[in-house]
Amino acid sequence: MDETKEHRVVPIKQKWNPRNPLCPKHTTKHCDFYCKQCNNPICALCVLSGEHDQHEKMDIFERKIEKLENELHQLEHSICPKYNDAALDIKIKKDDIRANSKKLRTMINEHGQAWHNEIDNIIKSLLSKIDDNESKQLDIFESEERKIHLKTNEILKNIQDLKNLISSRDAHLVPEYITKLRDFSDLPPHLDMALPNFMPRSIDKSLFGHLSNCFEGKALHNAMYFGIIPRPIRNLSKYLGPPGFPTLVKK
Ligand SMILES: [Zn+2]
Ligand SMILES: [Zn+2]
Repeated sequence: MDETKEHRVVPIKQKWNPRNPLCPKHTTKHCDFYCKQCNNPICALCVLSGEHDQHEKMDIFERKIEKLENELHQLEHSICPKYNDAALDIKIKKDDIRANSKKLRTMINEHGQAWHNEIDNIIKSLLSKIDDNESKQLDIFESEERKIHLKTNEILKNIQDLKNLISSRDAHLVPEYITKLRDFSDLPPHLDMALPNFMPRSIDKSLFGHLSNCFEGKALHNAMYFGIIPRPIRNLSKYLGPPGFPTLVKK
């Protein structure tokens, strides 16, 4: 042995494992070690060659465990949190969609109610005009009706008086009778009137057009309008840095 060199004993925890890779330099030997400086698996003959005497070496099984631990670390601390963030982001966006739809439903219902109120007010106003007109026209006719009724009663009374007078043949009263024809010759006026008419116009749907166009932008089915840009989840490799160096990826 070369006494000038420092020797280190590498513990071999595992038995010889046929799964260990064959050494590229010594093709009959399996690599049971790993040289950290060369970043390569090496075999017992490589160790004996002295080429790696000053290099830090480790059991290849431990090296494999180290790689597994590194993968575990990436899964736990890099990849899984990203998936959790994505799921949370989707949940927040779904809540936003529901909250926004609820707000829009309320606004649309309120807007619809405002339109209904407006139409109700117009109908009430029209009905009120009909009531008002009816009342005014009936007042005029009822006033004339009362006058006619009074006059008719007077005429009927006078008819009876005349009949009594004629049948009495009273020599004093008959000559004194003064004609009443002049009182009744002013005949009731002929009242002309124009009945109001209702001429409904066909409903102009363009008036309501803006109701269905209140949404900004394009049609509802256009996903882009809603800002949803479907794209696959970012490639996993983006989150995978070189082994042992978890990479921070900008969002
Ligand atoms: Zn070798
Ligand atoms: Zn080496």
